[in-house]
Amino acid sequence: MTRVEEILEKGSLGKEDIVALLSAGEDDSVAIFRKAREVKKGSVGNKVYFRGLIEYSNYCAKNCFYCGIRSGNSRYARYEMLDDEVLESARYAWENRFASIVLQSGERDDEAFIAKIERLIHRMQEMTRHELHITLSLGEQKMETYRRWFQAGAHRYLLRIEDANPGLYRKLHPNDQRHSYRGRVEALKALRATGYQVGTGVMIGLPFQTVSDLADDLIFFRDLDIDMVGMGPYIEHKDTPLYEHRDRLLPLGDRLRLSLKMVAVLRIMMKDINIAATTALQAIDPIGREKALQAGANVIMPNLTPVKYRQDYLLYENKPCLDEEAEHCKSCLETRIQMAGDTIAYGEWGDSKHFEKRKNPHE
Ligand code: SF4
Repeated sequence: MTRVEEILEKGSLGKEDIVALLSAGEDDSVAIFRKAREVKKGSVGNKVYFRGLIEYSNYCAKNCFYCGIRSGNSRYARYEMLDDEVLESARYAWENRFASIVLQSGERDDEAFIAKIERLIHRMQEMTRHELHITLSLGEQKMETYRRWFQAGAHRYLLRIEDANPGLYRKLHPNDQRHSYRGRVEALKALRATGYQVGTGVMIGLPFQTVSDLADDLIFFRDLDIDMVGMGPYIEHKDTPLYEHRDRLLPLGDRLRLSLKMVAVLRIMMKDINIAATTALQAIDPIGREKALQAGANVIMPNLTPVKYRQDYLLYENKPCLDEEAEHCKSCLETRIQMAGDTIAYGEWGDSKHFEKRKNPHE
């Protein structure tokens, strides 16, 4: 038995085990992916849940060093979708039985923004007779804001930690109150306390990041008992400060392989959570998301943002599907998901089983 096979037999993985799995070569990786597929099939099944992604606005008050729409980048025209456009995208998701949407935006915490999101959540819920599950990805907010949006009808919240190592987090963000690592972790806890299903995630293959850091990221998810994870390769954007460290980066193919291993190891560690096959994987490999499904992911986020806005929502470069209408995106995905051996769970909310078990421990 190889060392990797021995580790895969264990019930619980320690940091050294995780580092060994993430460092495995091509041959050993085959066993890791096989194990992750088995775990996925036995715990969450072969269903893939759609979350229609609506990129509501690229206004952002923050200035993260890796992000294309950071406030310091003046090269993008700033936009905010009209209410009717948001409702139309939500209607498309509902009528096509996606059952779920993600409303995402740059971070703002002014009252006008908070109230507008609250109104939009109410209107989407009314329009869809409360049949649509709403995930928010709107950054760090006060507890009161989380509560207002929850009470308006949002169910899940995604807030990526981006890197769970506080030292590396500091290198990726300005050193001020708005970009505090501690604040971000507190926000994740506040979301849990409010009642949301909580998701987080990281970038993989950042400059300065080590395999040990990535193992800590996975342990962070486990310690936080997270319900959902969306993580993918870091892809550099030339209009950002982090671009000057591009000579430290792994080749894109290695970043993709590492990302797939992260998905597989996470599935082995946290059997019943939801894991997204993120779009950044597809930016490197046209079938990157399908590979992630085979490595243990079970969620895909088809882009429902009106095409006219997509060029201005580039968190990273080479983002795929910038000119594809939702209908084309949907049929392209259907074929690819079938090829990956999974089925799309149309009309199902696809709540994280992990969350359901925590809510109803005796079921
Ligand atoms: S990563 Fe998010 S919070 Fe940071 S600059 Fe980009 S959109 Fe704003």
